Parts: sequence; structure tokens; C-alpha cells
Amino acid sequence: MSQPSVAVLGLGIMGSGMVRRLLSASFPLSVYNRNREKCLSFDGTDLFIADSPREAAARAQIVISMVADDGASRNVWLGENGALNGASSGSVLIECSTLSVGWIQELATKAEGRGCRFLDAPVTGTKSHAASGELLFLVGGPAGDVEAARPVFSVLGRDVIHLGPVSSGALMKLVNNFVCGVQAASFAEAVSLIRAGGLDVTKAISILTGGAPGSGILKRMAERMAANDFAPNFALRWMAKDLRYALDGASGKGVSLQTANAALSVFQRSIVEGHGDEDFSAVTKSRE
Ligand code: NAP
Repeated sequence: MSQPSVAVLGLGIMGSGMVRRLLSASFPLSVYNRNREKCLSFDGTDLFIADSPREAAARAQIVISMVADDGASRNVWLGENGALNGASSGSVLIECSTLSVGWIQELATKAEGRGCRFLDAPVTGTKSHAASGELLFLVGGPAGDVEAARPVFSVLGRDVIHLGPVSSGALMKLVNNFVCGVQAASFAEAVSLIRAGGLDVTKAISILTGGAPGSGILKRMAERMAANDFAPNFALRWMAKDLRYALDGASGKGVSLQTANAALSVFQRSIVEGHGDEDFSAVTKSRE
């Protein structure tokens, strides 16, 4: 059976890895990125570089968006040159970025208005998982549409978890990153206290990572600190964004996430100190 045609909007850290994966599985591909320079790394490959999200979507049966935040998602889907204006009726639109629940619901309504099928499918995993097809998709939307998207999910991911109606995937992703963000912020504060208290930093961190607090997120941050490598796999400012969206989503449901609030202020301080474009583990560099 021939592969469905696919468009990918967004060639950042995650989107570019996903595109390479789809290319290796021979999907007919169109891509769009706001900054066209990022398309240059695909020169010589068998994909179509579109001038607008609309042009990319018009060539595809499945459209995937993997962009920064709600504002970026609005930019690629809406407006004269937006993907919704190019998408054919019946095409499957998949929003994989980590976005607010409110925007996902609004976008789903707009997609439905165009006669398109819509899934929110944010992912867990990072740069390496995007490149190797080992993402975990957290999906909201009708079960039949999840099946229609299965050919791309199975090339890009190690698993697909269908959580319920539209926006269930977005909410679960924000719950996931809220817990990660709180752990990361508490680790950053722990590092400050370790330094201020004059403890041996290497020994202290290995006690934490080897003991009960030693979650995947702490281990990942400790590795980055040890290597003094803060090149972004997941940018610090996106972790702050996710904490903000989690707080908004929770308050809309009458739930107060006090630890998310505290973690957000730790990340905001780090952004003010100039670490927003570094990996989120750079939150441990904080001067306080
Ligand atoms: P990234 O490398 O910073 O890439 C962001 C992408 O969004 C780029 O293609 C960028 O285009 C585009 N963009 C930003 N602002 C835009 C705007 N106003 N209009 C149109 N396009 C815009 O981010 P990433 O790490 O790939 O993350 C993408 C999404 O996946 C985010 O929602 C993030 O939270 C989520 N996520 C990331 C990871 C991770 O480990 N990196 C893991 C899970 C989920 P330009 O090139 O033109 O700037």
C-alpha cells in the first residue's frame, strides 16, 4: 500500500528529527519552516519545501505541526497563508506541539469547520527520540482518526496512547511536564544549597541521583552538568511555557498548582539571567 502524503510544519529540534524519520520511510513529504534557512539542511533530499503552511498542507493527506507555542501554532494554522486554508476536507491534522488546552480546543473547532479531522498528539521524548522514531504520542481525538494517523505514528513513535476526546493529549502532556518542571526546579534549588553549604557537588549529586529522588529528569540534568553541556535538547524557555500552560489549564478546572507556580518563578529567573535558549538543565546555573 502506498504511503499517505505528509506535511510537516516546523523544522526545529523536534520537527527536523521527525522529518528525517519520515523521509527514511519514504513518505511523500512537504515541509514548511518560518525561517527558511532551516530548510537548507534538507537540500538534496526528496521533499518539497513550501513557501507557506497553506502550500505545504494543500499537498498532504496528513498535516503535522511541531512548533514552539500557542502563538507559533496560530501562525502556522490560521490566516490567509495558514495550513487550514490549504488543507483538503477529510485530511488528518495533527498538532504535536505542547500547547494550552484552550488553544487546542479552539483549533479543533476551526479544523472541524473546514471539514478536517483533528488530533492533539503532543509527545514525550526529546531530540534523540524524535530522530530515532521513539517518541510517545499522547493523543486526544476520535478513535477512527487515530487509526487514520497510525502510519505516521508508527514511524515516529514507540507507542501511541489514546487518552480520550480532543485536548486530552494536551492536558496529559501539561501534567507530565508540570511534574518534570517541578522536579527540575527543586533540583536547581538543591544544587544552590549544596554549593552554598560547601558540600562536594559531585558527591552530593550522585547521592541524589542514586537515591530515592533520582528520577529520569534528575539523572538527565546531572549528566548535562557533569559534561558542562547545555546545548538545547529541550529549551529552558519551553519548560517555562509548559508550566504556564499547566497553571492556566489547572486554574480553568479549579485546581491550584502551587508547586508549578514556584517552579515557574525559578525558571523565569533563569530566563532573566540569560539561560532561556539553553537546555532546561541550565536552570542549575542560577546564581542564587
Ligand atoms: P524549537 O527547536 O525551538 O523549534 C521551534 C519551532 O517553532 C521552529 O520551527 C520555529 O521556527 C517555530 N516557530 C517559533 N515561533 C514561531 C512563530 N511565531 N511562527 C511560526 N513558527 C514559529 O522547539 P522544539 O524543541 O522543536 O519543540 C517544538 C515543540 O515540541 C514545543 O511545543 C515543545 O514544547 C515540544 N516538545 C519539545 C521537546 C524537546 O525535547 N525539544 C520534547 C517534547 C515536546 P523558526 O525556525 O522560524 O524559529
